[in-house]
Amino acid sequence: VQLKELHRVLLNWYKKHGRALPWRTRTDPYAIWLSEIMLQQTRVETVIPYYQRFLKAFPDVITLADAPSDEVMKMWTGLGYYSRARNLQKCAQSVRDSFRGVFPTEFETLLELPGIGDYTASAISSIAGSEPRIALDGNLERILSRWLGVRENPKKEGRLTILSFGQKLAALGSAGDVNQALMDFANQVCLPKHPRCDLCPFANFCSAKATNSVSEIPYRAPKKEKVLLLAHGRIFIANNHLLIHRRPNGAWLAGLWDLPWWLETERSPKGLPKEGRRFTTCAVFRTITHHKIRFEVEAHILGVKTKPKDGFQWLSLAALSDLPLPKPSERALEMALNSLEGRKQI
Ligand code: SF4
Repeated sequence: VQLKELHRVLLNWYKKHGRALPWRTRTDPYAIWLSEIMLQQTRVETVIPYYQRFLKAFPDVITLADAPSDEVMKMWTGLGYYSRARNLQKCAQSVRDSFRGVFPTEFETLLELPGIGDYTASAISSIAGSEPRIALDGNLERILSRWLGVRENPKKEGRLTILSFGQKLAALGSAGDVNQALMDFANQVCLPKHPRCDLCPFANFCSAKATNSVSEIPYRAPKKEKVLLLAHGRIFIANNHLLIHRRPNGAWLAGLWDLPWWLETERSPKGLPKEGRRFTTCAVFRTITHHKIRFEVEAHILGVKTKPKDGFQWLSLAALSDLPLPKPSERALEMALNSLEGRKQI
């Protein structure tokens, strides 16, 4: 009975306080999938404009599958975690080739697609397919751990308790709304650091609150120290053009256009031009997974625009907005250009 009441209160709360997000007006699995992939590790506010631009450029799964991969990368640049963009297109191609272009909505079938794990398959199948599945991410793990007073790691020892409770909740109906309601509740009320228990309609139900242990639940793994690394980068400018390099396969950020750069422990990229007149150096930091990289960039002016070697391309400085570089590279470029007195010298 208590669970039914919880389900009712949750859906009522969602009706009143749920956020109006662009993907919530859609029920097609393609749009839901796209939003779920973009939202991984990324804030809703950041995702919204990307999502809208992306859907405009690739309105359906076939258009995305057939698009040149550069175009897909270009639309993704700035969102980070670039393996998502590569998997995104692989997944679209799988849907085109193995499912005749019809995006599946069944949990088990979704799991066969590249880049779709348990969480994303649960989200899509519950929202677009009405399957009774709970989509457990960090947010839902936090709420359910607090409700149930689970102190163990919700991804390991605590998972079974949380998952079976979540599944029961989803099985009571409107699983897609249950998942989205919990997501919004996690972002508006049951916040990680300072949950707003005074506004919480579940306060009577919440074990963490009852035992005064909200700040200790959920379980937190000890933080991993960031590994510090050094990388070298180059800005080559000739005739108002910038030399960019496609990150090679097997390297970090593979497939992405960026300034040419390499780790201290790696060789410089094959085909990098000979250095010209060095006009400045600058350093920025970039973070990739749990690595913090000091990125030391030398900027050179070349007399002539040499024919670019494989994997390189000259890009007009005026056209930079068409192919935005990753943020740290943009910062380095901006510093370098500012150090020139006017653009006349380039
Ligand atoms: S009482 Fe506080 S900790 Fe418990 S669910 Fe509500 S907001 Fe979260």
